[in-house]
This record gives sequence, C-alpha cells and structure tokens, in this order.
Amino acid sequence: MCGTSGGVPAPFPAPSVLSMAILLSDPRVRAVPLDECDEPLVLLPADLAPAGAHVRAGLAERLLAAAGLLPDGLRLRVVEGYRAAERQQAIIESYAADLCALHPGIGPTDLERLTSRFVSPLDVAPHVAGAAVDLTLVDAHGRELDLGTPIDATPEQSAGRCFLAAPDISAPARAHRDLLVGVLGSQGLVNYPTEWWHWSYGDRYWALVSGAGRALYGPLVEVAA
Ligand SMILES: [Zn+2]
Repeated sequence: MCGTSGGVPAPFPAPSVLSMAILLSDPRVRAVPLDECDEPLVLLPADLAPAGAHVRAGLAERLLAAAGLLPDGLRLRVVEGYRAAERQQAIIESYAADLCALHPGIGPTDLERLTSRFVSPLDVAPHVAGAAVDLTLVDAHGRELDLGTPIDATPEQSAGRCFLAAPDISAPARAHRDLLVGVLGSQGLVNYPTEWWHWSYGDRYWALVSGAGRALYGPLVEVAA
C-alpha cells in the first residue's frame, strides 16, 4: 500500500476489451492445478533470439513451428523468455511504484489489480515458469516491423495501444499483430491481452484461457545454464 487516505484510484481509460479479459491476478488463474512435467529449459536458436533466451523445450518447438508459417522474408524475434524470480519481483516493485505515483492513496487490493494488468504476480508468472516469450516481427534484414508500440510500452505510456486488440493503431500494425495471432495461435500459444508481444504455452494462464485446465509448467527456481 502506498498511501493511507483510502482514496479511489482514477479510472484507467482502457479499451473495452479489457472488461472481458482475464488478468493474471484473477483467482481463477491461481486456482489452476499444476502437473509440472519437468521439461528442461533450452536455449532458443540465435536466428530466433539473437540476444539469447531460454524457454521450456515444448514452447521452443512451438515457436520454431510458428516461425515456419510466416510469409517469406518475415521472422519472429524473441527478446525475452525465461526470467528469474528475483528479476520478476524487481519489475513488479518498479511498476507498482509508478502506479502509486499516479494514484495517490491507492489501497493494496487495487494496487495489485492495476499492477497485474501489466506485470504478473510471481506465483503465476509465465516468464518465471519458462512458459512465455516476448517477441515481435522482423524483416529479412532483422529490422523490427511496426506493431503499433514498442515492446514493453505500458498502458500509461501507450494510451492503451499496447493492448493486442487496441483499435487505434495503423493498418500495417494491425496486420502484423493479426499475423502473430495466426501463427502463434495455430501452435497453441495464448496472448496476454494487455501486451501484444507476450505469448505463453503451458503456464496456469494458458491452461485457463485455452481450456486445457491443467498447467504443464510451474515457476522455476534454477537459473538456466
Ligand atoms: Zn512477457
């Protein structure tokens, strides 16, 4: 909690789609049972993740299959995969501090709800499970395409255009987002609707929204080699 006045936070001008979205803080996500399958983390190939990124083996296979479905000249570019728990916690605290500055007096329940709209609580964090990637599209020369906002733009920074379904992005950006939906969705990945770049497979959020019912990948404590 970052204030004691008990004031009501100002409403956030989010696209109406958010009212239908399941957020990572939703109790239904935490309630999803986990059948940890102990798949190892693997390093993604350099052409897919030039800066290096580890993900669970099953997710790596699906990303490679999705990349193979793209039109000639386009590639997936993964910028982040597995994330250590300590780093996730630092991101949570940083964003929560930003929100406290925007909403003086916000209570702990509202702060967690607003924070988790954009940054996952640790216990259900898809990146900490090695089950998520942040990615974009690049051309044959490795140049990033227009997806409407930079990766990691917050709802506040982007006026909500970071939402996958944001209506006020350019036609090329919409087409590029739709391409991600097509190739990644066909391989069973699900998007987190407040971040067009975030896709996961096998985590609790995936299990809930895909209807799989049980998660395959839980949080990892070991750091990838
Ligand atoms: Zn992500």
